[in-house]
Amino acid sequence: MKKLLIANRGEIACRIISTARKMGIRTVAVYSEADRYALHSSLADESYYIGPSPGSESYLKMSVIIDVALKAGANAIHPGYGFLSENAQFARLVNEAGLIWIGPSPEAIEVMGSKLAAKEAVKKFNVPLVPGTDYPISGVEEARSVVQKTGFPVLIKASAGGGGKGMRVLYEEKFLEESLQAAISEATSAFGDGSVFIEKYITNPRHIEFQILADQYGHTIHLLDRECSIQRRHQKVIEEAPSVALDEELRNEMGKAAIMVAKACGYTGAGTVEFILDEAKNFYFLEMNTRLQVEHPVTEMITGVDLVEQQIRIARGEKLPIQQESIRANGHAIELRVYAEDPFNDFLPSIARLQTYSLPSGEGVRVDNGYREGDEIPIYYDPMISKLITYGHTRQAAIERMKNAIDNYIILGIETTLPFGHFVMCHAAFINGEFDTHFVAKHFNEEAYRELYSNEAHIAARFTRWLTEKEKSKLTFE
Ligand code: ADP
Ligand code: ADP
Ligand code: MG
Repeated sequence: MKKLLIANRGEIACRIISTARKMGIRTVAVYSEADRYALHSSLADESYYIGPSPGSESYLKMSVIIDVALKAGANAIHPGYGFLSENAQFARLVNEAGLIWIGPSPEAIEVMGSKLAAKEAVKKFNVPLVPGTDYPISGVEEARSVVQKTGFPVLIKASAGGGGKGMRVLYEEKFLEESLQAAISEATSAFGDGSVFIEKYITNPRHIEFQILADQYGHTIHLLDRECSIQRRHQKVIEEAPSVALDEELRNEMGKAAIMVAKACGYTGAGTVEFILDEAKNFYFLEMNTRLQVEHPVTEMITGVDLVEQQIRIARGEKLPIQQESIRANGHAIELRVYAEDPFNDFLPSIARLQTYSLPSGEGVRVDNGYREGDEIPIYYDPMISKLITYGHTRQAAIERMKNAIDNYIILGIETTLPFGHFVMCHAAFINGEFDTHFVAKHFNEEAYRELYSNEAHIAARFTRWLTEKEKSKLTFE
């Protein structure tokens, strides 16, 4: 592999370029209209314009991207996450063009891309599934008989869903018919596939996932777990490795189940097996993500394995050089997704120019970043700006470093999830490891935020930093 095209943008494109460079592989970036001056395209050795700003006219244009790869003389494509990363058809076209696809086979992507096909595939391997159906539900009578068995609450889920979309919780039978119809029509319009199914809604669960690596010769290992329970809109904001909820026995058991899931679809490359853990510590398979995961850095920090490097090596046919026995958690890592969102306004996007943008640095601090000062955050894509990752020999040390790093990460011009991250690091439920996927609903709001900081000595500094521009101007004029 001499030259690699990265079919993505933002922090993940920058992240991939850095490993490619380390391995002596030349890099080709692609960019849309909105990304004409984006960081990722300036970091690559070469970059090519691929179309107007909307993803559907640029980063999702399969033939345009493959043509650029061929024209530039690239011999491999890395899809990153999101966009075309879980598109089996794209993987096929890449292979047919004679290029190396950095990811699993199109067949494995297809099976795991459908939550129902995935359940079907793993069920034969005795992997525990959430009680409910492993087939699509179309009629209300069928739905009624399912909920009679599972009991309420239930979750109606789109088989083709992703990114936290296509799910609705149902607490009583009264709304069953209405919810089912709405879920089917939503799934049809959002994912082009109206298959929905019913799962028992696990109350107070934790989201725990395992990182998988598998080479083309049947050697499959897991690189331990990540806890991703701090979520908003069913989507992760803070992740850590390892999870405080698992003891060694449960970790081994879940790790083995994760390997079975990967084997069930003949998986190769890096992938993630997601589980939900209930209060009694029963675990259930949720889905497998057939790509590099947003939160992969926390695994890299505690295992010392560069996951992008392993993806590239596996894709070019090398044997996985790591044995399961040699994987040990060394220390603790935490990641905060820095989104251009206002945590005090329902985490709604806050999209504008980065007037001031200064990254933290120091021992145990890593920032996977996609922007520079002065950049405009495009409205067309995911509003994630960067990921702030801290490492410590203990969890407490990683938490302290995260608090410091947040204080030294200066972003003016937009609202971000930084103050939310600081709040979580200071919150007793997080510090004690007693939290679940409802942390935000249970503990976070503006009042709780003000209360938490009212006890702190440096409240003045903190508040002036996080006050909105509006509040600041009020202060100056009063
Ligand atoms: P992870 O499990 O890696 O944390 P997320 O669920 O947060 O992944 O999604 C990763 C990226 O992919 C995000 O940019 C998200 O917006 C995007 N994404 C994932 N699935 C979909 C989907 N079905 N439709 C639209 N975007 C998606
Ligand atoms: P996506 O493809 O959108 O990532 P997942 O099936 O991975 O969908 O679920 C995303 C999140 O939704 C989980 O991390 C969890 O918070 C919640 N969730 C999913 N299934 C259940 C369930 N059966 N019970 C409770 N929460 C669930
Ligand atoms: Mg998921």
